[in-house]
Amino acid sequence: MTLEDDARDYHREPPSGKIEIATTKPTNTQRDLSLAYSPGVAAPCLDIDEDDDAAYDYTAKGNLVGVVSNGSAVLGLGDIGAQASKPVMEGKGVLFKRFADIDVFDVELDIADVDEFVAATKAMEPTFGGINLEDIKAPECFEIEHQLREQMDIPVFHDDQHGTAIISGAALLNAADIADKELSSLNVVFAGAGAAATATARFYVSLGIPRENITMCDIDGVLSEHRADTGDLNEYTEPFAQGVDDGSLEDAMVGADVFVGLSVGGIVSQEMVRSMADNPIIFAMANPDPEITYEDAKDARDDTVIMATGRSDYPNQVNNVLGFPFIFRGALDVRATEINEAMKRAAAEALAELARQDVPDAVVKAYGDHPLQFGPDYLIPKPLDQRVLYEVTPAVAEAAMESGAARRERDLDTYREELEA
Ligand code: NAP
Ligand code: MG
Repeated sequence: MTLEDDARDYHREPPSGKIEIATTKPTNTQRDLSLAYSPGVAAPCLDIDEDDDAAYDYTAKGNLVGVVSNGSAVLGLGDIGAQASKPVMEGKGVLFKRFADIDVFDVELDIADVDEFVAATKAMEPTFGGINLEDIKAPECFEIEHQLREQMDIPVFHDDQHGTAIISGAALLNAADIADKELSSLNVVFAGAGAAATATARFYVSLGIPRENITMCDIDGVLSEHRADTGDLNEYTEPFAQGVDDGSLEDAMVGADVFVGLSVGGIVSQEMVRSMADNPIIFAMANPDPEITYEDAKDARDDTVIMATGRSDYPNQVNNVLGFPFIFRGALDVRATEINEAMKRAAAEALAELARQDVPDAVVKAYGDHPLQFGPDYLIPKPLDQRVLYEVTPAVAEAAMESGAARRERDLDTYREELEA
């Protein structure tokens, strides 16, 4: 059986798909039913009519995330449309449930237009405690997220942008430490200037990388002021244009401390890795094939190459599942109005800190008994490590409370105990 055939069977096995609705209250008697629906249900309706926030007490809103997509940039598959994206969005729901016990309605909208997409999503605000935008192509995804964040009072988070930023940001914090370099001194080169790359670069600035130390390249090479002047860049890439001569990725990598690949596979040679600074940090995250393979990068030089990829078959997989379930869990549990920079930074820092702790035996076993110890080949925790829930989630909730995004205060010790229970 191929993986493809296995996947078809997995999805087709009755009941079709991967998720269903389950009821949470008794439904055995006539009385139960008149509480669940008419006439009893009128009482909570009227309370919510008095106070919108009561919806969090009387309905599933506070544990319900809308995974909303138009299918315009699905995995590496491109613009396959809303209907064809549904298995992916159901899959996202599976991950939310499996890792953070969050329920999801997957919402596939057959809408390409930004304003229409925004209006449709905004109109669903009463339903959800948060919105996870998924697999929407650039540049529309930036505008959609921007408008929805302004218009909605619940968290709106485009995971393809910020998930990668946060998880690779955690890896960067630890990689810099291992390379014994200050964040403020790092020269960072990006291959790619799309959704993931621009969001990641913005987040690295928020972590402490000086913007002027970032050189970003798209398919035509370095983003320069000259290219900005000729109208070659958009409002999301222009902030990263540098006052340098036009040049290639190869030119940009000479002497760089960090390479961040969010572009396409195979575009970085061993020669380019050799041109980088001592103990280079290489995050080659194009999927499924990285900009340079783990082996080629490691073999290119004699000093330590600190390497991460998007792949599960090599160390340091930058996997969004380390982020979104716990970020939303923390946000929902304090009824946050948004997921802001402070909350994202808290998530990255908590992940980085957790990777420095000893790893429980059960986690090591789940990953084939390879030793997992803080170092170049273990920069970030593993997704199946339960401690991610206990450490990242309260850190996000705390940051929400401190930054004024929380509508409800939680005692952090009690909250942590609840999560561990
Ligand atoms: P995107 O919005 O389409 O952006 C792709 C970018 O790559 C564009 O800026 C494009 O330049 C650039 N590019 C293409 N060929 C290039 C080349 N030869 N040299 C330099 N830049 C080149 O896509 P995205 O959503 O940001 O994703 C980009 C990649 O990152 C994909 O491979 C995706 O799988 C991967 N990714 C990985 C993770 C992860 O590991 N967790 C998460 C998110 C994304 P132009 O603008 O000039 O076309
Ligand atoms: Mg995605």
